[in-house]
Amino acid sequence: MKAPAAPAVLAPARAAPAVLAPARRSAYDLTLEDLRSLSALVGQPAYRARQVWDGLHRRALRPSEMTDLPLALRARLTEELPAALREAARRTADGGDTLKWLWELHDGRTIETVLMAYPARATVCVSTQAGCAMGCAFCATGQGGFGRNLTTGEIVEQVVAAVRASRPRRVSNVVFMGMGEPLANYDRTWAAVRRLHAALGISARRLTISTVGLVPGIRRLAEEPLPVNLAVSLHAANDALRDRLVPMNRRYPLEALAEACAAYVARTGRRLSLEWALVEGTNDRASDMAELADFARPLGAHVNLIPLNPTPGFALRGSSPARVAEAREELERLGVNATVRSTRGARIDAACGQLAARARGGAARRPGAARSAVVGPAPVR
Ligand code: SF4
Repeated sequence: MKAPAAPAVLAPARAAPAVLAPARRSAYDLTLEDLRSLSALVGQPAYRARQVWDGLHRRALRPSEMTDLPLALRARLTEELPAALREAARRTADGGDTLKWLWELHDGRTIETVLMAYPARATVCVSTQAGCAMGCAFCATGQGGFGRNLTTGEIVEQVVAAVRASRPRRVSNVVFMGMGEPLANYDRTWAAVRRLHAALGISARRLTISTVGLVPGIRRLAEEPLPVNLAVSLHAANDALRDRLVPMNRRYPLEALAEACAAYVARTGRRLSLEWALVEGTNDRASDMAELADFARPLGAHVNLIPLNPTPGFALRGSSPARVAEAREELERLGVNATVRSTRGARIDAACGQLAARARGGAARRPGAARSAVVGPAPVR
């Protein structure tokens, strides 16, 4: 049974009623000001709201775990600050170093989050939308269509879940590369960036927003005060091929995309990453690498080559490891820095949308690749 959809943004509560009732949505949708108005905290000492805020964010605690609060208050907060993410499935791979969740939201929609652990730190890949409207040719999420934008709290709560799961490792990096197009949910995505930076203490330089190339969003991002990393899912550097692989290219073709990227780099001084999922015989030829180099060089961009994640039942295949290595060498010869991204969790439906597609009733009909498909290290370090 599905609960009614939550309003898009919580209005700041001035009175006593429980802010989160009646729909289940995230405690992380509340501002500190909202917390102060939460009925459980009305009448409490003034410092309590800050205490709860720090507990939720810096300490990544559930209300029931905030042992510095009176027991009765913990109980009330547990009622009034329910989790928005209900774990519907989880998969692990790479000896436990890769963990992928399928979360069910209050309205029955599902999203995915991936946690990738490294020796001294961890990276989390978060979703910004339930489903996606971009329709990239080889993406399982795109195949499922668009559901809705996530709220800021639903995005932040994914990171908090990862922080809890990765202990004692610190989550140092967050990549907005999961389900959905972050710049199509701009305001909430940016609010999540600000929250992660200010309340969880994650450096803006360790936050990466990925896009298929929404030019107005890139231009807007360039004006923001926090210097986050930008990763563009390119996958083709001629309009004819990119029109097919990434339909948004018909609206914002390569020339406009290159101009917006150049403006971003000039304005922020941040290095740009270009994501390129290598598809055998489609975009992995020497001519494709030459076109990619011509696009990347003037932007001073770093290229992440991503072997396509295997998905049963789809004709296109990822390039062979040998071809991937050659492609990287060709780019280096052409004066472009390139890295081969590790395909973390290839055996656990790691490509964006695959786990959700399986949960919907069967394997994705098309391979999830694109920017969000492969879980690997954050693109820009
Ligand atoms: S690759 Fe990303 S932008 Fe494209 S359809 Fe999939 S989730 Fe959407």
